[in-house]
Amino acid sequence: MKLSIQSHVSLKPHNTFGMEVQAAQFCRLTDLAQLPALLADSNYQRGPVLWLGGGSNLLLTRDYPGLVVKVELGGIRLLQQDGDSLLVEAAAGENWHQFVRHCLQQGWYGLENLSLIPGTVGACPVQNIGAYGVEVKDHIEQVVCADLTANAATVVLDNADCHFAYRDSIFKHAAAGRLLVTAVRFRLSRQPQLKTAYGDIQQELEHRGITQPSPLDVSNVVMAIRASKLPDPAELGNAGSFFKNPVIAQQQADALLQRFPALPHYPAGPGRVKLAAGWLIDQAGLKGYRQGDAAVHARQALVLVNHGRASGSQMWALARHVQDTVQQRYGVELEAEPLVL
Ligand SMILES: Cc1cc2nc3c(=O)[nH]c(=O)nc-3n(C[C@H](O)[C@H](O)[C@H](O)COP(=O)(O)OP(=O)(O)OC[C@H]3O[C@@H](n4cnc5c(N)ncnc54)[C@H](O)[C@@H]3O)c2cc1C
Repeated sequence: MKLSIQSHVSLKPHNTFGMEVQAAQFCRLTDLAQLPALLADSNYQRGPVLWLGGGSNLLLTRDYPGLVVKVELGGIRLLQQDGDSLLVEAAAGENWHQFVRHCLQQGWYGLENLSLIPGTVGACPVQNIGAYGVEVKDHIEQVVCADLTANAATVVLDNADCHFAYRDSIFKHAAAGRLLVTAVRFRLSRQPQLKTAYGDIQQELEHRGITQPSPLDVSNVVMAIRASKLPDPAELGNAGSFFKNPVIAQQQADALLQRFPALPHYPAGPGRVKLAAGWLIDQAGLKGYRQGDAAVHARQALVLVNHGRASGSQMWALARHVQDTVQQRYGVELEAEPLVL
């Protein structure tokens, strides 16, 4: 299909905070064959360019001065089958949650704990999405990309090339703006290997009287727990967890634990400790804190919400206030998880 670039397009339907900002130019990439024309287009060449999936990890604080390209490449296929082991490829524009459910329907297991995370397949490697004890890197075999600096030549990165870490990957650093993710290849299995020890999964299964859960049961339970804890962006604008859990030196953690013995903490590699950002914010008295329509969610302190009319810059001012308060109280720096533009 021919590429259609429009001017002055509202991004409100394309970001889960519901920010009413405009893109100077906007187009949809629905077919890889459109890429050469896109890269040659003067709007693209002038820049800046924002590659957009579902807009669920994004805070837009102003109109975007360049070209926004919404990635809508579709397609899911089974590439290989070797006994119970499967290699499944999904195109970047596929909806993440629908892809997870599609896999479950096919009997392709492994992604069930990542049910109901908003966004697209193409964005899942960018911040190495994770939930309920699973990170997507545990199941990514390869990421297929178009090199935007080499006429969109196909580049296939193996898992190790992606430098996956906690909410991080090469796509946020060296590859940002250079490699467009066009598809992701997942290593899945026909043999369920359930992870039910994390969070309330086991408890919720028991509550439902399920003693021998299937992967579909785990997905359903994860969906129910998430729906009970996290605000639905369709009702209350948000981008999920706004801050990463900070990772600090053991020595600093020991000193903090002396002052705050209840502080939840987890080992994060040699000499490093991960703290629960939500606890830090909550205990600093900020749960439910509001500046106009920009607020810290009343039930989940890690989530910032837009009660309706907050602008992106008001949302960002609130985020800065949370960061400053936590820094002053604990000496810990909170890093924003979404891309702030
Ligand atoms: C209610 C809610 C709950 C959430 N829960 C979780 C959770 O449990 N765990 C978690 O990890 N995240 C969570 N998130 C964050 C978000 O869902 C994920 O980060 C998701 O992967 C973002 O996908 P997206 O398509 O919306 O990306 P976007 O917001 O559109 O983009 C995010 C970044 O990825 C880049 N990008 C997008 N597509 C491509 C591509 N094809 N190639 C290269 N770069 C690309 C963008 O340029 C941008 O930098 C949550 C968000 C919400 C709103």
